[in-house]
Amino acid sequence: MRERKDSFGGFWVLWLHVLALPVTFVLGAAKLVRTLRGYQLASRSSLDCPHCGYSNPMNVLASCEGCGVTEFGSRLFCTSCRAFGRGFDCGKCRATIKVFP
Ligand SMILES: [Zn+2]
Ligand SMILES: [Zn+2]
Repeated sequence: MRERKDSFGGFWVLWLHVLALPVTFVLGAAKLVRTLRGYQLASRSSLDCPHCGYSNPMNVLASCEGCGVTEFGSRLFCTSCRAFGRGFDCGKCRATIKVFP
């Protein structure tokens, strides 16, 4: 078994990463903005459903899908297993409201 190092191929992979950097940066920035907007929405006391307009309270008795703990608090965060929910179902029309991307 001989190890063969293909330094030329490695160079092109590196070069492609350099070329992709601006794209990665823009996509990362867009995701960061959406995540920050999600935090802003999650910190509000209620969230209006974009489908039916029902005002869903954020601070409710909710069950964690991960560990099964039911507690009062933000419906998007479990204090037991520290799981983060990306969204929840509307209390009126049951449509999923996405908070985090
Ligand atoms: Zn949990
Ligand atoms: Zn709704």
